[in-house]
Amino acid sequence: MSKILIVGAGQAGLQLALGLVQDGHDVTVVSNRTAEDIRGGKVMSSQCMFHDALQHERDLGLDFWEDECPDIEGISFVVPAPDGSGKAIDWAARLDHGPAQSVDQRVKMPGWMEELEKQGGKLVLHDASVPDLEGYAGENDLVIVAAGKGEVAQLFERDAARSPYSAPQRALALTYVTGMTPRPEFTAVCFNLIPTVGEYFVFPALTTTGECEIMVFEGVPGGPMDCWGDVSAPAEHLAKSKWILETFLPWEAERCHDVELTDDNGILAGRFPPTVRKPVGELPSGALVLGLADAVVLNDPITGQGSNNASKAAASYLASIREHGDGPFDRAFMEQAFDRSWDEVQYSTIWTNALLGPPPEHVLQLLQAGNEHQEIASRFVNGFNDPRDFFDWFMDPESASQYLAQVAA
Ligand SMILES: Cc1cc2nc3c(=O)[nH]c(=O)nc-3n(C[C@H](O)[C@H](O)[C@H](O)COP(=O)(O)OP(=O)(O)OC[C@H]3O[C@@H](n4cnc5c(N)ncnc54)[C@H](O)[C@@H]3O)c2cc1C
Repeated sequence: MSKILIVGAGQAGLQLALGLVQDGHDVTVVSNRTAEDIRGGKVMSSQCMFHDALQHERDLGLDFWEDECPDIEGISFVVPAPDGSGKAIDWAARLDHGPAQSVDQRVKMPGWMEELEKQGGKLVLHDASVPDLEGYAGENDLVIVAAGKGEVAQLFERDAARSPYSAPQRALALTYVTGMTPRPEFTAVCFNLIPTVGEYFVFPALTTTGECEIMVFEGVPGGPMDCWGDVSAPAEHLAKSKWILETFLPWEAERCHDVELTDDNGILAGRFPPTVRKPVGELPSGALVLGLADAVVLNDPITGQGSNNASKAAASYLASIREHGDGPFDRAFMEQAFDRSWDEVQYSTIWTNALLGPPPEHVLQLLQAGNEHQEIASRFVNGFNDPRDFFDWFMDPESASQYLAQVAA
């Protein structure tokens, strides 16, 4: 059995740590925040996770909130008509493999931190720096950095070939609320795309105070939804959220007459460039550390894939470590472990990056065709669970036109 240290107590770090502890390894997780800091701190994500990613949690017995957390049964998609007369595109479909769920990371991570210690893992409170990593590398067989957007992740070199953007592509904001009118028929991620302005999506979730709805705003930089710079007080943040809906999405504003913030920390605004990094970090001494999830594959949240990828990457690294046996955790192991996980998550990264640009003609045609063909709506919706499927019909004009012809026939 090996001695393994993981920096970062997030979706990826804790899920992998718990899997390794269950396999009998000696595992330490270094976190720069206590469970209480996380529970009482600001929201960090909207963390909507789909079936396949949730299954990895179930496989490790970590699905503690499954009964309590509201189910998200499908996804709806709306594009407002350019003349303001209503909806140009409007369709919805159910998730065929089972519901999605969103458990606030302020609930999940403290729960998993407690569980880690219960199952025999160690938790160390420290803001790990590169010199600390040198120490950890000397004392452990393998050091994994799962520090998300933390500064320490910058030790991994940016992979320019896999990172088409060097600047943030959206101004992001989150607003956690109660009192929203539920979507009729079935619960869903209600996704609205406002051309040239940005995207808004909203769905039910479980937060520290019980059930809520999470509003996610993705404003095109410099546009009217890039509007959070002068907003600081929680009440102003809520008012700005409602202003966006009243201005661009009246059907969503309709649902929000009685909304209130879940708590003063149920808000977030920020931006970052989506970035893929080289997975192996070489420390000044020559020792190597392996990057995991957001630390090395950071996507814009427009498609809600980051936590899903974090879960899939953690499961993939766990499988690689299991199969590796007693061999050394050298550069070859690290590169193979990352390549195996990249084989799975690259599709979500490439698809997500494509959706950040203006939609090409074939994508507009497909989305429009969802109005007439439920099959297209359903295929799009189910791609969120496994984005590999988009590469057979959505990503390039040729396969799109073949698919459209086939559906029309
Ligand atoms: C606005 C927004 C909305 C999102 N919505 C969704 C969504 O709906 N669905 C989805 O799948 N994904 C979503 N994501 C992405 C998702 O939250 C992340 O991809 C996911 O949390 C990544 O997990 P991780 O474990 O890699 O990193 P993180 O969750 O960031 O965890 C990293 C941890 O490491 C700690 N840390 C950092 N530096 C150090 C250090 N030096 N020493 C010790 N600890 C350190 C941090 O405090 C943190 O606890 C969203 C993200 C944002 C910003």
